[in-house]
Amino acid sequence: AKALFVLGTRPEVIKLAPLILRFQRHKHFSCVVVNTGQHREMSREFLDLFEITPGYDLRVMSERQSLGRLTGKLCLRLEEIVTLEKPDLLVVQGDTTTAFCGALSAFYCQVPCVHVEAGLRTGNKFQPFPEEINRALVARLADLHCAPTQRAKANLLREGIDEGKVVVTGNTIVDALQLILTQKKDFINKTLEEALKISRKVITVTAHRRENWGKGIEEVAFAIKELSEKFEDVNFFFSVHPNPVVKGTVYSLLRGIPNVFLFSTLAYSDFIKLLARSNLVISDSGGIQEEAPALGVPVLVTREVTERPELLEAGLGALVGCSKEKIVEEATRRLLAGGERIPRSVFGDGKAAERIERAIENFLGFCTQGVEE
Ligand code: UDP
Repeated sequence: AKALFVLGTRPEVIKLAPLILRFQRHKHFSCVVVNTGQHREMSREFLDLFEITPGYDLRVMSERQSLGRLTGKLCLRLEEIVTLEKPDLLVVQGDTTTAFCGALSAFYCQVPCVHVEAGLRTGNKFQPFPEEINRALVARLADLHCAPTQRAKANLLREGIDEGKVVVTGNTIVDALQLILTQKKDFINKTLEEALKISRKVITVTAHRRENWGKGIEEVAFAIKELSEKFEDVNFFFSVHPNPVVKGTVYSLLRGIPNVFLFSTLAYSDFIKLLARSNLVISDSGGIQEEAPALGVPVLVTREVTERPELLEAGLGALVGCSKEKIVEEATRRLLAGGERIPRSVFGDGKAAERIERAIENFLGFCTQGVEE
């Protein structure tokens, strides 16, 4: 059988890599990877790290492109590829425009679609935009739904998805994280390596969400400034997203502070080492909310809502929105409380890719053994 994987952003590469690597070794499958390039060079670099070579590199992005234009270009190109490759199934992940267009193209070409990380919902179609609607639309189109948690499964059932088409697998991000940690790769960024040798507490920060552009990211930066003055013996590591809107705000407010280190996007292996060494993370990222508990690091989520409430229920995070006061208050409380890092499998145990592989085999009628729950 032939599996076609469609991906294009940093989190899609990270979360599909463990599955692609399994399928590349599978004796009954051939595997084609389409990189739409929705995150430009970033997706390519991340694919290189996992040693995955895409069969197609679409480079669909251009300056200030609207979502409609991107959708049109993607559907056109993906339909051509699906028609040419004639896969037995098409796999998409998460909630990007790439995932939505992949699922739509599969539907139009009548190829079964597998959705990895199915069932995440905030319940508000504009939050986050456009991701919430993308994942709901993929759910309408997909034929096999791989839900990371029981809650995600319940969300799908509530929307009328047939229970027989939903499997709870855990999130493949934990597989990716474990894969990278066992590879023990050398640091790529030597400045980061040196800075992490300093025996101080570490706070890692990221910010990139569209709804936080401008005012939100400004508040986060002001909060970090205040915290860095209040806690001179704590080092702050800010991974600054390449988007010019984000970069401009962060660099103008935080450049030149001795205990604040600003980095442009770090390689995944470096970033995971940084997370593993952190005492606290301040972030609006989805993936980081899943990785941090696996490493036992608490997260302050700089958003109003999260589609990953399991983090909050496990007591490993707090929703702080984008108010400087709230961020400073909550970070201060957690810094002073200290505490050791106890890894927790809130979103997965590192066997998600194996479970998804089994589910796909069963779906296509292969005879296989089950994976332990
Ligand atoms: N990440 C990375 N380098 C960085 C910052 C983040 O490799 O400098 C990884 C992070 O570990 C996580 C993923 O990128 O797995 C999250 O991507 P992003 O925040 O762009 O997307 P989201 O998860 O919010 O969809």
